[in-house]
Amino acid sequence: MGRDNFTSATKSALARNVHFRCVYPGCPRVTHASTPQGQNVNLGQAAHVSAAARGGPRFDNALTPEQRRAYENGAWLCANHAKLVDDDPLTFPGETIRGWQRAMEESARESVYGVPMNANFDFSEICSKLELFLKACRGVVFRVCRDPKFIQVPRECVVVMQDLIRQCPKDHWRPVHHWHSLHPITHAIQERAISAVRRIFYEITDYNKWYCDGYTYVILGAANVWSLTPAQEIARINKTAGIVCEALLEFTECIGHLNEYAAGRRHPGNIM
Ligand SMILES: [Zn+2]
Repeated sequence: MGRDNFTSATKSALARNVHFRCVYPGCPRVTHASTPQGQNVNLGQAAHVSAAARGGPRFDNALTPEQRRAYENGAWLCANHAKLVDDDPLTFPGETIRGWQRAMEESARESVYGVPMNANFDFSEICSKLELFLKACRGVVFRVCRDPKFIQVPRECVVVMQDLIRQCPKDHWRPVHHWHSLHPITHAIQERAISAVRRIFYEITDYNKWYCDGYTYVILGAANVWSLTPAQEIARINKTAGIVCEALLEFTECIGHLNEYAAGRRHPGNIM
Protein backbone atom coordinates (compact mmCIF):
# COMPACT_ATOMS: atom_id res chain seq x y z
CA MET A 1 0.00 0.00 0.00
CA GLY A 2 1.37 3.41 -1.00
CA ARG A 3 1.51 6.63 0.88
CA ASP A 4 -1.34 9.09 0.55
CA ASN A 5 0.85 12.17 0.30
CA PHE A 6 -0.47 15.72 0.14
CA THR A 7 -0.33 17.46 -3.19
CA SER A 8 2.00 20.43 -3.35
CA ALA A 9 -1.04 22.69 -3.63
CA THR A 10 -2.38 21.33 -0.34
CA LYS A 11 1.00 21.77 1.33
CA SER A 12 1.24 25.35 0.15
CA ALA A 13 -2.27 26.11 1.35
CA LEU A 14 -1.57 24.63 4.80
CA ALA A 15 1.53 26.81 5.12
CA ARG A 16 0.06 29.96 3.62
CA ASN A 17 -3.13 29.90 5.67
CA VAL A 18 -1.12 30.06 8.88
CA HIS A 19 1.28 32.68 7.49
CA PHE A 20 4.16 30.19 7.27
CA ARG A 21 4.36 29.60 10.99
CA CYS A 22 4.58 26.34 12.92
CA VAL A 23 1.17 25.76 14.54
CA TYR A 24 2.56 23.96 17.59
CA PRO A 25 1.39 26.06 20.57
CA GLY A 26 4.09 28.48 21.68
CA CYS A 27 6.49 27.61 18.84
CA PRO A 28 7.89 30.87 17.48
CA ARG A 29 9.22 29.28 14.28
CA VAL A 30 8.53 31.02 10.98
CA THR A 31 9.24 28.38 8.38
CA HIS A 32 10.09 30.27 5.21
CA ALA A 33 12.83 32.59 4.02
CA SER A 34 15.03 32.92 0.99
CA THR A 35 18.76 32.63 0.50
CA PRO A 36 20.69 35.74 -0.66
CA GLN A 37 20.54 34.13 -4.10
CA GLY A 38 16.78 33.99 -3.95
CA GLN A 39 16.34 30.26 -3.35
CA ASN A 40 13.53 29.10 -1.10
CA VAL A 41 14.34 27.99 2.42
CA ASN A 42 11.63 25.95 4.11
CA LEU A 43 11.89 24.57 7.64
CA GLY A 44 8.27 23.46 7.73
CA GLN A 45 6.39 20.29 6.93
CA ALA A 46 2.81 19.51 6.08
CA ALA A 47 2.27 16.96 8.84
CA HIS A 48 -0.37 14.29 8.51
CA VAL A 49 -2.90 14.33 11.33
CA SER A 50 -3.72 10.75 10.46
CA ALA A 51 -0.73 8.98 8.88
CA ALA A 52 -0.32 8.75 5.11
CA ALA A 53 0.41 5.02 5.29
CA ARG A 54 -0.54 2.02 7.38
CA GLY A 55 1.61 1.66 10.48
CA GLY A 56 2.23 5.41 10.72
CA PRO A 57 1.19 7.57 13.68
CA ARG A 58 -2.56 8.02 14.20
CA PHE A 59 -3.29 5.94 11.08
CA ASP A 60 -7.03 5.63 10.61
CA ASN A 61 -8.13 2.68 8.54
CA ALA A 62 -11.58 4.18 8.12
CA LEU A 63 -10.31 7.09 6.03
CA THR A 64 -10.24 6.91 2.25
CA PRO A 65 -7.00 7.83 0.41
CA GLU A 66 -8.70 11.10 -0.60
CA GLN A 67 -9.47 11.92 3.01
CA ARG A 68 -5.89 11.14 4.01
CA ARG A 69 -4.62 13.51 1.33
CA ALA A 70 -7.18 16.17 2.17
CA TYR A 71 -6.38 19.59 3.52
CA GLU A 72 -8.39 18.78 6.65
CA ASN A 73 -5.94 16.00 7.50
CA GLY A 74 -2.97 18.33 7.58
CA ALA A 75 -1.21 20.74 9.90
CA TRP A 76 1.77 22.98 9.25
CA LEU A 77 4.61 22.25 11.67
CA CYS A 78 8.31 23.03 11.89
CA ALA A 79 10.57 20.02 11.38
CA ASN A 80 11.12 19.57 15.14
CA HIS A 81 7.47 19.60 16.05
CA ALA A 82 6.48 17.41 13.09
CA LYS A 83 8.90 14.83 14.50
CA LEU A 84 7.67 15.31 18.08
CA VAL A 85 3.99 14.72 17.29
CA ASP A 86 4.81 11.67 15.19
CA ASP A 87 7.09 10.14 17.81
CA ASP A 88 4.50 10.60 20.54
CA PRO A 89 1.04 10.12 19.02
CA LEU A 90 -0.50 9.35 22.42
CA THR A 91 0.31 12.79 23.81
CA PHE A 92 -0.78 14.41 20.55
CA PRO A 93 -4.02 12.91 19.28
CA GLY A 94 -5.37 13.97 15.89
CA GLU A 95 -8.03 16.23 17.34
CA THR A 96 -5.36 18.25 19.16
CA ILE A 97 -3.22 18.75 16.08
CA ARG A 98 -6.19 19.64 13.93
CA GLY A 99 -7.22 22.15 16.62
CA TRP A 100 -3.80 23.87 16.44
CA GLN A 101 -4.11 24.32 12.70
CA ARG A 102 -7.63 25.71 13.00
CA ALA A 103 -6.66 28.10 15.80
CA MET A 104 -3.65 29.39 13.86
CA GLU A 105 -5.75 29.85 10.70
CA GLU A 106 -8.21 31.82 12.78
CA SER A 107 -5.51 34.08 14.17
CA ALA A 108 -3.99 34.57 10.70
CA ARG A 109 -7.42 35.53 9.43
CA GLU A 110 -7.88 37.91 12.31
CA SER A 111 -4.55 39.60 11.65
CA VAL A 112 -5.63 40.26 8.07
CA TYR A 113 -9.23 41.27 8.68
CA GLY A 114 -8.59 43.02 11.96
CA VAL A 115 -11.32 43.42 14.53
CA PRO A 116 -14.55 44.48 12.84
CA MET A 117 -14.73 48.24 13.12
CA ASN A 118 -18.43 48.23 13.86
CA ALA A 119 -18.20 45.67 16.64
CA ASN A 120 -19.23 47.44 19.74
CA PHE A 121 -17.38 45.79 22.58
CA ASP A 122 -18.01 46.95 26.06
CA PHE A 123 -14.48 47.30 27.35
CA SER A 124 -15.43 47.43 31.01
CA GLU A 125 -17.34 44.16 30.60
CA ILE A 126 -14.29 42.52 29.01
CA CYS A 127 -12.16 43.72 31.92
CA SER A 128 -14.52 42.45 34.57
CA LYS A 129 -14.84 39.03 32.92
CA LEU A 130 -11.09 38.81 32.57
CA GLU A 131 -10.71 39.63 36.25
CA LEU A 132 -12.95 36.70 37.14
CA PHE A 133 -10.99 34.43 34.82
CA LEU A 134 -7.65 35.58 36.22
CA LYS A 135 -8.93 35.00 39.73
CA ALA A 136 -9.85 31.43 38.78
CA CYS A 137 -6.37 30.95 37.30
CA ARG A 138 -4.58 32.22 40.38
CA GLY A 139 -4.39 28.72 41.87
CA VAL A 140 -2.29 27.42 38.99
CA VAL A 141 0.99 27.84 40.82
CA PHE A 142 3.93 25.52 41.02
CA ARG A 143 7.62 25.91 40.74
CA VAL A 144 9.50 24.63 37.76
CA CYS A 145 13.19 23.95 38.23
CA ARG A 146 15.89 23.00 35.80
CA ASP A 147 16.16 19.73 37.62
CA PRO A 148 13.10 17.51 36.96
CA LYS A 149 13.65 15.96 40.40
CA PHE A 150 12.28 19.10 41.97
CA ILE A 151 9.21 19.74 39.86
CA GLN A 152 6.41 19.30 42.33
CA VAL A 153 2.83 20.18 41.59
CA PRO A 154 0.67 20.57 44.69
CA ARG A 155 -2.63 18.74 44.70
CA GLU A 156 -4.58 21.99 45.23
CA CYS A 157 -3.11 23.28 41.98
CA VAL A 158 -4.24 20.13 40.16
CA VAL A 159 -7.76 20.61 41.53
CA VAL A 160 -7.81 24.19 40.22
CA MET A 161 -6.59 23.04 36.80
CA GLN A 162 -9.22 20.32 36.67
CA ASP A 163 -11.93 22.85 37.41
CA LEU A 164 -10.68 25.22 34.70
CA ILE A 165 -10.70 22.41 32.14
CA ARG A 166 -14.14 21.25 33.22
CA GLN A 167 -15.61 24.73 32.89
CA CYS A 168 -13.92 25.44 29.57
CA PRO A 169 -14.31 22.32 27.43
CA LYS A 170 -12.53 22.28 24.07
CA ASP A 171 -14.32 24.41 21.45
CA HIS A 172 -17.44 24.52 23.62
CA TRP A 173 -16.98 27.64 25.68
CA ARG A 174 -20.36 29.20 25.88
CA PRO A 175 -20.21 32.95 25.29
CA VAL A 176 -22.52 33.32 28.27
CA HIS A 177 -19.95 31.82 30.64
CA HIS A 178 -19.00 34.42 33.23
CA TRP A 179 -15.31 34.02 32.33
CA HIS A 180 -15.76 34.40 28.58
CA SER A 181 -14.27 37.77 27.69
CA LEU A 182 -16.28 38.17 24.45
CA HIS A 183 -13.63 39.95 22.42
CA PRO A 184 -12.03 37.55 19.88
CA ILE A 185 -8.51 38.60 20.80
CA THR A 186 -8.76 38.33 24.56
CA HIS A 187 -10.80 35.17 24.20
CA ALA A 188 -8.15 33.60 21.97
CA ILE A 189 -5.59 34.27 24.70
CA GLN A 190 -7.89 32.68 27.26
CA GLU A 191 -8.19 29.65 24.97
CA ARG A 192 -4.41 29.40 24.75
CA ALA A 193 -4.10 29.59 28.52
CA ILE A 194 -6.67 26.83 29.01
CA SER A 195 -5.06 24.66 26.38
CA ALA A 196 -1.72 25.01 28.21
CA VAL A 197 -3.43 24.04 31.47
CA ARG A 198 -4.94 21.05 29.70
CA ARG A 199 -1.51 19.89 28.54
CA ILE A 200 -0.07 20.17 32.06
CA PHE A 201 -3.04 18.41 33.61
CA TYR A 202 -3.09 15.44 31.25
CA GLU A 203 0.66 15.08 31.51
CA ILE A 204 0.92 15.00 35.28
CA THR A 205 -2.18 12.89 35.87
CA ASP A 206 -0.76 10.16 33.65
CA TYR A 207 0.18 7.64 36.31
CA ASN A 208 2.68 6.04 33.97
CA LYS A 209 4.70 9.25 34.15
CA TRP A 210 3.83 10.99 37.41
CA TYR A 211 3.26 9.85 40.96
CA CYS A 212 1.04 11.48 43.59
CA ASP A 213 1.56 10.78 47.27
CA GLY A 214 -1.74 12.48 48.12
CA TYR A 215 -0.22 15.96 48.46
CA THR A 216 2.03 16.54 45.47
CA TYR A 217 2.62 15.21 41.98
CA VAL A 218 6.21 14.35 41.09
CA ILE A 219 7.72 12.75 38.00
CA LEU A 220 7.87 9.02 38.41
CA GLY A 221 11.43 7.96 39.14
CA ALA A 222 12.84 11.51 39.01
CA ALA A 223 13.96 11.40 42.63
CA ASN A 224 16.12 8.40 41.77
CA VAL A 225 17.92 9.96 38.85
CA TRP A 226 21.61 9.42 39.37
CA SER A 227 24.64 8.74 37.27
CA LEU A 228 23.87 5.06 36.73
CA THR A 229 20.29 5.62 35.55
CA PRO A 230 19.87 4.28 32.00
CA ALA A 231 19.80 6.98 29.34
CA GLN A 232 16.29 6.16 28.16
CA GLU A 233 14.98 6.63 31.67
CA ILE A 234 16.56 10.07 31.89
CA ALA A 235 15.18 10.91 28.45
CA ARG A 236 11.70 9.86 29.58
CA ILE A 237 11.89 12.05 32.68
CA ASN A 238 13.26 15.02 30.75
CA LYS A 239 10.56 14.68 28.14
CA THR A 240 7.63 14.87 30.53
CA ALA A 241 9.38 17.68 32.44
CA GLY A 242 9.86 19.52 29.13
CA ILE A 243 6.19 19.28 28.18
CA VAL A 244 5.10 20.62 31.57
CA CYS A 245 7.69 23.44 31.60
CA GLU A 246 6.81 24.56 28.10
CA ALA A 247 3.09 24.59 28.85
CA LEU A 248 3.58 26.49 32.11
CA LEU A 249 5.66 29.05 30.26
CA GLU A 250 2.91 29.55 27.71
CA PHE A 251 0.27 29.77 30.43
CA THR A 252 2.29 32.40 32.31
CA GLU A 253 2.76 34.42 29.14
CA CYS A 254 -1.01 34.37 28.45
CA ILE A 255 -1.82 35.40 32.01
CA GLY A 256 0.66 38.27 31.65
CA HIS A 257 -1.15 39.53 28.55
CA LEU A 258 -4.58 39.12 30.12
CA ASN A 259 -3.45 41.06 33.20
CA GLU A 260 -2.51 43.93 30.91
CA TYR A 261 -5.96 43.92 29.34
CA ALA A 262 -7.80 43.51 32.64
CA ALA A 263 -5.86 46.42 34.13
CA GLY A 264 -6.76 48.58 31.12
CA ARG A 265 -3.13 48.98 30.07
CA ARG A 266 -3.94 47.35 26.74
CA HIS A 267 -7.06 47.65 24.69
CA PRO A 268 -8.02 44.72 22.46
CA GLY A 269 -9.50 47.05 19.83
CA ASN A 270 -6.19 48.83 19.23
CA ILE A 271 -3.65 46.12 18.81
CA MET A 272 -3.83 45.43 15.10
ZN1 LIG B 1 7.51 24.22 15.87
